[in-house]
Amino acid sequence: MRPSGQRTLVTGGAGFLGSHLCEALIRRGDQVLCVDNFHTGTRDTIAPLLEHPRFELLQHDVTVPLDVEVDRIFNLACPASPVHYQHDPVRTTRTCVLGAMNLLALAERRRARILQASTSEVYGDPEVHPQPEHYWGRVNPTGLRSCYNEGKRCAETLFFDYHRQYGLEIKVVRIFNTYGPRMYVDDGRVVSNFITQALRGDPVTVYGDGSQTRSFCYVDDLIDGLLAAMDSPAAFTGPVNIGNPDELSMRALAERVLRLSGSSSRIVHQPLPPDDPKVRRPDIALARKNLGWQPRVPLDEGLAKTIAYFRALLNA
Ligand code: NAD
Ligand code: UDP
Repeated sequence: MRPSGQRTLVTGGAGFLGSHLCEALIRRGDQVLCVDNFHTGTRDTIAPLLEHPRFELLQHDVTVPLDVEVDRIFNLACPASPVHYQHDPVRTTRTCVLGAMNLLALAERRRARILQASTSEVYGDPEVHPQPEHYWGRVNPTGLRSCYNEGKRCAETLFFDYHRQYGLEIKVVRIFNTYGPRMYVDDGRVVSNFITQALRGDPVTVYGDGSQTRSFCYVDDLIDGLLAAMDSPAAFTGPVNIGNPDELSMRALAERVLRLSGSSSRIVHQPLPPDDPKVRRPDIALARKNLGWQPRVPLDEGLAKTIAYFRALLNA
């Protein structure tokens, strides 16, 4: 691959999504600076990149200002699993808000284009279904999920104020539940939980009655969506939903994982966490129209690849 000459910063680059994004950017010829404080990410995820001549790693916390020469910034730094972001909620808000402020200030200084990894959590427990970008959401400002939801909402506000006030080129992408290889065994998210439980023969833990729904996007599709958003014309700021509209209940997901993994684990029910959204499904009309993007990997195919990844990991 011929170098593009472009220097791209990925914060949270050692995380699940960040490591896939760094890889994709290297593949297309960018020089990549990965910034991570290893709060949830590990060196293992980026180990194959460490010796690459166009890859650099900087251990740094985005709540602290940073000055580097870059042309483009993807801001992914933030724990994404509810278990992780609720572990130290004050730190989560600091990462969302101070992280956004510091990276926007950097983008303004360098006149760099900047993309924010926002989330479907900005819609909260939605009354509009599926969720289009013009829906303002229904978010509890004082609950256990608020550090993340409100932190991400505040980050979106900062992005749009920098755009209006300083003419900064921004992209705000609302990522819906994404899964795939390199999720962590113990991060508490539903896909990694169900698969590792099924492979170990442990009970599969469905929270509540399992009727709540989510819509899962395979990681390769998500990365294509992030790149398409970053490369879109300057006038397109988003917010734009990136996710797979194929919706199913958590009970159905548990059954699907058991079938695809050939596991004989049983399903057990545990209490539903507070403020757990009852439904979630992206309206992706805007991404289709403005980015020419849509997901390609069906759930069964993505789950089979993810199960193979965890099987190899657990066997090792
Ligand atoms: P992850 O936890 O695997 O990765 C986050 C990375 O950010 C980790 O490597 C972590 O060490 C790093 N980090 C955390 N705080 C930091 C800080 N203060 N300074 C520097 N680095 C820091 O999560 P992920 O699933 O890869 O998510 C990446 C981004 O995408 C997050 O911003 C998340 O909110 C967003 N997102 C993800 C999903 C999803 O389904 N995976 C859905 C919606 C939004
Ligand atoms: N969930 C579950 N069992 C688990 C983990 C999660 O039933 O072991 C449910 C959770 O209550 C939620 C859905 O699966 O309804 C998705 O949870 P996750 O933490 O992956 O992401 P969320 O979309 O809630 O941020």
